[in-house]
Amino acid sequence: MTTPIPPLDHLDTGALREKYRLERDKRLRADGNDQYVEMAGQFAAFLDDPYTSATKREPLFDDTEVILIGGGFGGLLAGARLHQAGFRDVRVIEKGGNFGGTWYWNRYPGAACDVESYIYLPLLEEMGFMPRRKYTPAPEILDYSHRVAERFDLYRKACLHTEVTELRWDEEALRWIVSTNRGDRMRAKFVVMANGPAHKPRLPGIPGIEKFEGRIFHTARWDYDYTGGGPEGGLDRLADKRVGVIGTGATAVQCIPHLAQGTMRLFVFQRTPSAIDVRNDYATDADWWHAQQPGWQKRRMENFTALTSAAQVDEDLIQDGWTQVMSKFLRVNTLGTNGTLSPEAVEEADFVKMEAIRARVENAVEDRDTAAALKPWYRQFCKRPCFHDEYLPAFNRSNVTLVDTGGQGVEAITETGVVVAGEHYPLDCLVLATGFEIGTAYTRRSGYDVIGIGGERLSEKWSRGFATLHGMHVHGFPNLFVFNRDQSAHTVNFTHSLDELSRHMTHILAAARDRGATRIEATAEAEQAWVDTIVELSTINRDFLESCTPGYYNGEGRMNVEAARRGAGYGRGPLAFFEVLADWREQGDLSGLRLTAEGEA
Ligand code: NDP
Repeated sequence: MTTPIPPLDHLDTGALREKYRLERDKRLRADGNDQYVEMAGQFAAFLDDPYTSATKREPLFDDTEVILIGGGFGGLLAGARLHQAGFRDVRVIEKGGNFGGTWYWNRYPGAACDVESYIYLPLLEEMGFMPRRKYTPAPEILDYSHRVAERFDLYRKACLHTEVTELRWDEEALRWIVSTNRGDRMRAKFVVMANGPAHKPRLPGIPGIEKFEGRIFHTARWDYDYTGGGPEGGLDRLADKRVGVIGTGATAVQCIPHLAQGTMRLFVFQRTPSAIDVRNDYATDADWWHAQQPGWQKRRMENFTALTSAAQVDEDLIQDGWTQVMSKFLRVNTLGTNGTLSPEAVEEADFVKMEAIRARVENAVEDRDTAAALKPWYRQFCKRPCFHDEYLPAFNRSNVTLVDTGGQGVEAITETGVVVAGEHYPLDCLVLATGFEIGTAYTRRSGYDVIGIGGERLSEKWSRGFATLHGMHVHGFPNLFVFNRDQSAHTVNFTHSLDELSRHMTHILAAARDRGATRIEATAEAEQAWVDTIVELSTINRDFLESCTPGYYNGEGRMNVEAARRGAGYGRGPLAFFEVLADWREQGDLSGLRLTAEGEA
């Protein structure tokens, strides 16, 4: 079941185009991504871990075969695939107090995956695990990530609550020296950077944010001591509190229904409304689950990735908002082109779909002004689509007020509240649902720089232009594997891509082991050829992105299109990219990588 699609004939597409333009123009701002402030210096405490206290340990100076940076699904999958291939000397370094990555940090009430859990949770067949719901709640995902870590023996050498501060290549010793904030200087033959693409919370640079004297926290560091309750809701300590939420993206959409229930007064400060489609969550049907045949999960993941990346496929195994919208209507935008639909036809389908989204607001929200303000006026994939069935009705509660900022955002924060359009809203607590750094430099987000051969810094190399082979290897930085989306696969279901990258990396390390190789480096020629391929096949659509309301999909309205083309995913789509990797492995000569054994020049 998805939102019903109204007929096209009553739409004035010219007027809609103009309305979208006006709404975008209202939001364009000169500072783009610089409107956000790094959580560092006076704001560093925003990043403190509210969930687990760190335990003391002595610094480590030992030698490990493979160090995995990041204990989210990237590190877990890399660890699992390495374990399956017989690698036993593997250490995960994780800044959180346990495994889980984004699910360790994002424990806000209502958090749940909004990609189907049967494909989002990797290794389900290997683990023999059945998620309890189609979109399973965050605590189950976090618990599952711990099970994966246990199953593949990743706790034994793990360093939790440990942040890498520098990676430095020692060409003599053929080792990476890994420095951390715990005083470690560990050595590793190989390092996998599975930091995650968007894990650093961002702070809106609203004047006065440092002055607020009530309780203030980011959704990725939820303060349950203050709010009471837990990830499933029941925020009982807010019953006498006035709470404000800044932001209305995918996170806010999930936590606002719980805040609405728990607070005395809730003010939602909105800059741009999200598009809220039907979620239609349900408990897993155990009979259906047990009837699945071996290999089902990979087939299902591939089916979803095909449907959400413009690949031609007849069957829809998932049947949710993602697959229905992306497979039927939206095949020409940032995600790629499709030979069967003209851009005009796709734009029309987009208008129709967004009209249905707006009609859903109209039906769900009683107050006319509130309903009008909650309607999104942009093309669907200008922003990440949201799927929720309780968000819009939350605005019908008498204790909930939508404060629409007319696209301008919150004007100022004072000691006691928030100012919008000159009006002061007194608050006891301010929740920042303002998202994560995306457009900032890779090394600023990862929190460390990587120093390769001859002292070259990865930050400097990439400031001249992003360059990799297969998104994973970097010339000048031997024995290093990077998991990311750029020059790799852009998938809606990120864990699908992480699994493919993990298998690929494991294949290369196993091949190196078989050949007695101790050093692996991408050649400059192979790296350049891959960059050229990415740029040539890039489907980044300047017109589409420029027509969009600002957000992280278009560099907050100030997209550097050339840089975006260079950092694009493989233009023929993620499944084609996985095939490129599979063919490369099949070929067997590890072309583009130079492998050398100890003592070899
Ligand atoms: P987003 O970046 O999507 O949203 C940030 C929100 O803060 C936007 O609504 C933004 O408005 C608003 N904002 C920023 N500055 C101001 C300001 N000065 N005044 C008022 N509003 C402001 O972050 P989220 O945490 O919601 O989501 C980030 C990503 O996390 C998602 O896109 C998704 O990839 C992931 N996620 C995944 C989930 C899952 O189930 N798998 C669930 C939740 C999140 P504006 O739009 O105008 O910029």
